[in-house]
Amino acid sequence: MITIAIANQKGGVGKTTTAINVATAMAAVGWRTLLVDLDPQGNASTGLGVGSAERDYTSYDLLLGESDLAQCSVATKIPNLTLVPGTVDLSGAEIELVSGDHRTQRLRNALADAPHDICFIDCPPSLGLLTLNALGAANSLLVPLQCEFFALEGLSQLLQTVEQVKGRFNPQLVIVGIVLTMYDRRNRLTEQVAEDVRETLGELVFEEVIPRNVRLSEAPSHGLPALLYDHQCAGSRAYMNLARELIGRIGAKETA
Ligand code: ADP
Ligand code: MG
Repeated sequence: MITIAIANQKGGVGKTTTAINVATAMAAVGWRTLLVDLDPQGNASTGLGVGSAERDYTSYDLLLGESDLAQCSVATKIPNLTLVPGTVDLSGAEIELVSGDHRTQRLRNALADAPHDICFIDCPPSLGLLTLNALGAANSLLVPLQCEFFALEGLSQLLQTVEQVKGRFNPQLVIVGIVLTMYDRRNRLTEQVAEDVRETLGELVFEEVIPRNVRLSEAPSHGLPALLYDHQCAGSRAYMNLARELIGRIGAKETA
């Protein structure tokens, strides 16, 4: 299984929107897809229409080793897409894990026998133990970057964390790509930042950019990925293209 952590310690940069829509796009083209909601806010779960009543077993139980993956998995409306929901309990996990054994390996162990082709992990906006568990479980990191003035500043801290994770417990971890989000062609600052980011990070940056698109922000309130809510909007098309580009980078699906 290919496991991709979607992380950036900044909030509101498009992690969850990217997680939901790229996961949906992958499921739509036939990949058996798992999405793990590792954010105490549970936005990915809500955005996929999985309400609190359906969150009996969550990524918290998975991390603490209290339930296995099958128990924590919830089917979504999207064929091929399974969710491990997140709840506010996760904020406690951050503390409970501090004293545990293999505290950065919990998620990796829990996902070891997953029957999926690909797994996305939607991280919280911090570089704490939850995100470290995601980076410990992942082969790859996908970083959404909002085109704003301080975008690159936060990134260097994230890249430093990646180096530490590689050195300490997950040498295989690679950055699969950086995606520019909330891109606004009419805004000169956006263009300037995008240019700077591409100059600094080169081919790490996906060619596809995600436009600022109101349909993307409306979809979660309907409990639907944008790709189902309005599959023709600019945001949905961008996420389909991003998924295509992602497949180009990770390679074709392994056939079992
Ligand atoms: P994060 O998970 O990094 O905190 P979200 O994906 O939740 O970020 O996005 C933050 C807010 O911005 C949400 O309200 C979301 O609906 C909105 N949003 C995200 N991406 C876009 C976009 N490309 N265009 C418009 N709104 C967006
Ligand atoms: Mg989020």
